[in-house]
Amino acid sequence: MTAVPQERRIVTAIPGPKSQELQARRLSTVAGGVGSVLPVFTARAGGGIIEDIDGNRMIDFGSGIAVTSVGASAEAVVRRASAQLADFTHTCFMVTPYEGYVEVCEALAELTPGDHAKKSALFNSGAEAVENAVKIARSYTKRQAVVVFDHGYHGRTNLTMALTSKNMPYKQGFGPFAPEVYRVPVAYGYRWPTGAENCGPEAAAQAIDQISKQIGAENVAAIIIEPVLGEGGFIEPAKGFLPAIVKFANDNGIVFVADEIQSGFCRTGQWFACEDEGIVPDLITTAKGIAGGLPLAAVTGRAEMMDSVHGGGLGGTYGGNPVACAGALGSIETMKELDLNAAAKKIESIMKTRLTAMQEKYDIIGDIRGRGAMIAIELVKDPVSKTPFPEAAGALAKACHAEGVLVLTCGTYGNVLRFLPPIVIGEDLLNEGLDVIEAAFAGI
Ligand SMILES: *Cc1c(COP(=O)(O)O)cnc(C)c1O
Repeated sequence: MTAVPQERRIVTAIPGPKSQELQARRLSTVAGGVGSVLPVFTARAGGGIIEDIDGNRMIDFGSGIAVTSVGASAEAVVRRASAQLADFTHTCFMVTPYEGYVEVCEALAELTPGDHAKKSALFNSGAEAVENAVKIARSYTKRQAVVVFDHGYHGRTNLTMALTSKNMPYKQGFGPFAPEVYRVPVAYGYRWPTGAENCGPEAAAQAIDQISKQIGAENVAAIIIEPVLGEGGFIEPAKGFLPAIVKFANDNGIVFVADEIQSGFCRTGQWFACEDEGIVPDLITTAKGIAGGLPLAAVTGRAEMMDSVHGGGLGGTYGGNPVACAGALGSIETMKELDLNAAAKKIESIMKTRLTAMQEKYDIIGDIRGRGAMIAIELVKDPVSKTPFPEAAGALAKACHAEGVLVLTCGTYGNVLRFLPPIVIGEDLLNEGLDVIEAAFAGI
């Protein structure tokens, strides 16, 4: 499947001398605002391994932030994208169209929840998809207000910064932000004052009350939520929360938008995380895992909503680029062929078993959560106060990196270690990565 040997191998310090040399060049030419989790420079990657230019092979628990679910050099993605590259690289779908775009929209109609008539429009990045979902919802409802949630993340463009809840590093100094954006509570069970059992209905009641009192339901164009909140800390809204919000949206003519950019395409063990509670969104935004690493994003939704926009009102020069569409078709082919939903569930069961055993030994693991190949642990100073412990998350990540396991942090408080392995990762590599994490706990 991939030319990269599926084994961890450390042959130099991390980062090694060649990476350090390139990092010095990078620092003098790449804008300082663009960071890197770990400045080892990539030579090749595939399956569950990233190989750097010094010859180190790292176990990948990040997938380039939930993107390379099929691996970073999946056979079908490479084959289809290469063939497309040789045929033509670009015409602009708005100038002369091509079949790949149509095929991706057909696949999205088939795979997304609900059996209503659906249409899609394709874009380049997740933020662009979210912006377009807002444009479509406003055009359809002729209303302006947009409701988002605490701990939500939707991107880095001006409108999506406004939709994103966390200031540092996403918003600091970048205002003013887009108007008519309102934020309400989300059902964060682990930190809900009256406990996780009451959280779903209580948080929904609070959110709905705030929307009704502070905005007026009749002014709301869209409610946008990630069915599993990604950057905010892999928060799964407590049961009952999403259905209550969807019902409120439906009862009040509000477009319900599921932002599945991180949680979609097999990541949580289902095609889309909102299927877990039988949610059928009006609009759904996708990106990240859709195209095996090529830049592609989409808004998919009810045909009458998507078609409410005047002709020529949606688009962009590169949106639905033919090579990216070919990548998406290769990625979807791989997901079906290898049944990556089942594979993600297997990853969940292995990870949760191992992490639960670690929690018994290390009580700074306050919470273990997530679904499929989207699993996280929230670190706290002690399990009673639940005081966030971001220093532990940083130290653990650093220890894992030094041993050749790439893990990421996230969370509003920076105290969450998240695991997003390529869903095609081998079980042996997955367990070896977990061994390294366990050893890191012993070391801090
Ligand atoms: C990453 C992400 C985005 C933004 O996608 P980009 O491709 O980085 O613009 C939006 N929403 C969610 C839920 C994301 O995880």
